[in-house]
Amino acid sequence: MRAVFEAESRFPRSLIEFQNRFATESACAQYLFERRWPEGFVCPGCGEGRAWLLKTKAFTYECAGCGRQTSVTAGTIMHASKLPLTTWFWAAFLMATHSNGISALQLQSQLGLGSYRTAWMLCAKLRRAMVNPAREPLCGIVEADEAIIPFRTKNDPIVVPAGRSGIGKMLVAGAIEIDGDKPRRARLKVIEGFGKQQIHAFVLGAVAPRTQLVTDDWPSYQDIPGVRHNAITVGPMAAHIALPWTHRLFSNLKRWALGVYHGLRRTNLQHYLDEFVFRFNRRRTRHAAFDTLLRIGARTTPAPYRVLIRRAA
Ligand SMILES: [Zn+2]
Repeated sequence: MRAVFEAESRFPRSLIEFQNRFATESACAQYLFERRWPEGFVCPGCGEGRAWLLKTKAFTYECAGCGRQTSVTAGTIMHASKLPLTTWFWAAFLMATHSNGISALQLQSQLGLGSYRTAWMLCAKLRRAMVNPAREPLCGIVEADEAIIPFRTKNDPIVVPAGRSGIGKMLVAGAIEIDGDKPRRARLKVIEGFGKQQIHAFVLGAVAPRTQLVTDDWPSYQDIPGVRHNAITVGPMAAHIALPWTHRLFSNLKRWALGVYHGLRRTNLQHYLDEFVFRFNRRRTRHAAFDTLLRIGARTTPAPYRVLIRRAA
């Protein structure tokens, strides 16, 4: 109980609390330091623990062993950013705590950023910190299903006709843990097709051994090693009855994509799915989500600009 209370008390619970707590660059740097080096500074070059805080460079430590200088943001998603840490923190807070997230355009206007590009880059980098590499696989009873997500091009949204043949469409596999009559955590993944190979790879990457998988009677779910399988035979109209939670997950995803982003683009789709899942899995702990986002961000290697902006082939 005490641990829970202490964990909860670490996160700002309101805008005013957030503003008071992260009013300065040094308050943000201190918070990042603690997320990055919870046991104290460790030199990324030689592993030495002793270091001096430099007076001449902001939030930079010089290793007592090898002399290497490491800033608190080096090697994180904030690496080499010209934006103040306070701006990063605001962006992370808004992205993590808004129930539907925030578009780059909204972020630009809320934070008074100079350009749309800056806002877009902030969002793209934060989105890459939305998957915890150490997350636990789903377990217990897990519903799994697939969907076709409409995507948009530069001009208008394109509505993809329903059906399972996947050529030229954005295919997404989804799984969701069921606890009694309530959904818990979810996973979403872009897949290349609805064949056995892709479906097996998705399920094995998402669930723990001995999971009880519930699906419709699509044959690609058969014979997944180590997974117990309960296929419910349904007619095409009744999927939402047999698999209510994946059905709801996909319809929420589509609504979110239209509402916040006016439809997703093919480029970087997986990162948008990651954002959706990040928020879904933390829907009851939004303030803790802010801490999670910065903690993962403090350990996430920055993506090069050319990777962030790459276009779909
Ligand atoms: Zn060193």
